[in-house]
Amino acid sequence: MRCYGCLKDIDKGLYYCPKCKSNLFDGKSVKPLNFDKTEFYRIRGEMSEKMSISGVQDKISLKLNDSNELVPTNKDGMYILKPIPRDHDNTVNLEDIVQNEHLSMQISSQIFKIKTAHNALIELSDGELAYITKRFDYSLNGSEKKL
Ligand SMILES: [Zn+2]
Repeated sequence: MRCYGCLKDIDKGLYYCPKCKSNLFDGKSVKPLNFDKTEFYRIRGEMSEKMSISGVQDKISLKLNDSNELVPTNKDGMYILKPIPRDHDNTVNLEDIVQNEHLSMQISSQIFKIKTAHNALIELSDGELAYITKRFDYSLNGSEKKL
């Protein structure tokens, strides 16, 4: 089993190593997401009017609730979630996009020591992997928040 964050070997049954758990989720044991990609696009549609994250790839904001679940939110989002895109323009290797983005970010951070937002893979409710990144403009006291 590999850590969904840094890709280092970890014990079976875990999703993240202690360091990634601390960096990403303030040490909390976060459950896999409770929605799948179909649901993601429904939520995305409902939120699109209110969202201010730029870029073309579909994404939504998430926050960590009191039950250690990541839930969609349109304000005070701490994370950005990007699933594998829908196949609308015959893109090749579509299913690799999420893992490629994650790997690129890990190489930047681990090999080239570039300061990147904490990022990882996370499972949707059907087990498909999505890319999650912690907003670097988020802070617990709210002083640097832009959303
Ligand atoms: Zn890790």
